[in-house]
Amino acid sequence: MTEKLLSERFADFEENYKRIQEQIAEAAEGSGRKAADITLLAATKTVPAEVINHAISMGLSHIGENRVQELLEKYPALDREHCDLQFIGQLQTNKIKYLIDKVSCIQSIDSMKLATELSRLCQKEARRMDVLVEVNIGREENKGGVAPEALIEFIDEIRLLPGIRVNGLMAVPPICSDTKELCRYFLGMKQYFVDIKGKSMDNVNMDCLSMGMSSDFALAISCGATMVRVGSSLFGAREYKPKLTL
Ligand SMILES: *Cc1c(COP(=O)(O)O)cnc(C)c1O
Repeated sequence: MTEKLLSERFADFEENYKRIQEQIAEAAEGSGRKAADITLLAATKTVPAEVINHAISMGLSHIGENRVQELLEKYPALDREHCDLQFIGQLQTNKIKYLIDKVSCIQSIDSMKLATELSRLCQKEARRMDVLVEVNIGREENKGGVAPEALIEFIDEIRLLPGIRVNGLMAVPPICSDTKELCRYFLGMKQYFVDIKGKSMDNVNMDCLSMGMSSDFALAISCGATMVRVGSSLFGAREYKPKLTL
């Protein structure tokens, strides 16, 4: 990446960051909360470490990667001291080991198999990992997440696994252009969040409701999100390099 391109990306980020912080504050106040009640987590897939570090120097405090390989590549270069790193993508059981000492939270726990292996590795490393349970709120085939009707039972099963702590819920609702429909998914999540919180289950801390991305984070906040995961609106459209097969 050339000097010029990098400085342009820094400037773009600064402008976007300011605007998004304002939009978050507005949506938070609209739902009777404060900007500080909402965590902005930057989804940094495809974003180079230099750009992420600049974002951190501007005050960004949470980042999320969604591919293990990419996270490992950027990890040594990231200013981790000033930023909380989480994992937000689909995760294969055999890759958990790479994340154990690197992330503070895994947002995509959706199977007993994943939770059990995570628990085993956390015990081995004598650490505790926060997890969010991903909910397949749109009941979409081919999408990760626990089915809504299985959610409470699932949480009840994983909550006592040593080494992990359930800290909330995460969802990626179906892509839909109808705001009312989208709102129903977000409000559905909020309802599960409140219901589970109300059960006061041991080792379950319903602190984080992670939902809303670039196109819909304000709506998600209006519906109760406590964390939004924003990528392209902060860093610009993603350019995917074609995968090289060696
Ligand atoms: C990429 C990604 C986001 C952010 O998407 P944008 O539309 O770019 O804001 C949020 N959540 C997850 C799980 C992602 O993979």
